[in-house]
Amino acid sequence: MNLIFLGPPGAGKGTHAGMLREEIGIPQVSTGDMLRENIREGTELGLKAKRFIDAGELVPDEVVIGMVRERLSQPDCAKGYVLDGFPRTVPQAEALSRFADIDKVVNLVVGEDIILGHLSGRRVCADCRGTFHTRRLRDDKVCPDCGGRLIQREDDKPETIKNRLAVYRRQTEPLISFYRENGLLTDVPLQGELASDHAVLREALGLEA
Ligand code: AMP
Repeated sequence: MNLIFLGPPGAGKGTHAGMLREEIGIPQVSTGDMLRENIREGTELGLKAKRFIDAGELVPDEVVIGMVRERLSQPDCAKGYVLDGFPRTVPQAEALSRFADIDKVVNLVVGEDIILGHLSGRRVCADCRGTFHTRRLRDDKVCPDCGGRLIQREDDKPETIKNRLAVYRRQTEPLISFYRENGLLTDVPLQGELASDHAVLREALGLEA
């Protein structure tokens, strides 16, 4: 099953894609994670991407398209994948259609209050890269999995969140009609409660509850 998870920043694309990866073993292809990994490793691609990410802007299409194309050609993607955070523009979607066969596009429909709650409470472990929410943490500075230091992503700070949401509306939301018109889109309304939201998502994908 080749899937795209569409939705605004903070909708839960990464969380649900990570859960599906554990449950049915299909890789989560997150362009945000791949770009951050490149920044940490100091690659040329990472250097190009950093200033866009820090400003809450999109990294240029040609940078991410090449990266995704390469990733999808790897053997673990042969049995399916979840694209999390890609495509984010119409040109990215058009490019994707030339090198991938997508089965379904899941549009996560989430209220703005839930989005803001997710983004402002998100913490990432500086060591194992696990993602958590302050609501579920006893200590919001220590990773419950590995004991590493939890940090807030630079682009989850309030000033940048605002711009990321504006960029989503302007550049990514048009993909909803793009995929609706070609018949691939399924809307999945989420309420902000992880277990029941995930059950709704699984049902939309035709998986057992
Ligand atoms: P995410 O982790 O998906 O919220 O992505 C974090 C940031 O990485 C975004 O705000 C963009 O700057 C960049 N990014 C991730 N995916 C893409 C993409 N498909 N196209 C352009 N920029 C991207």
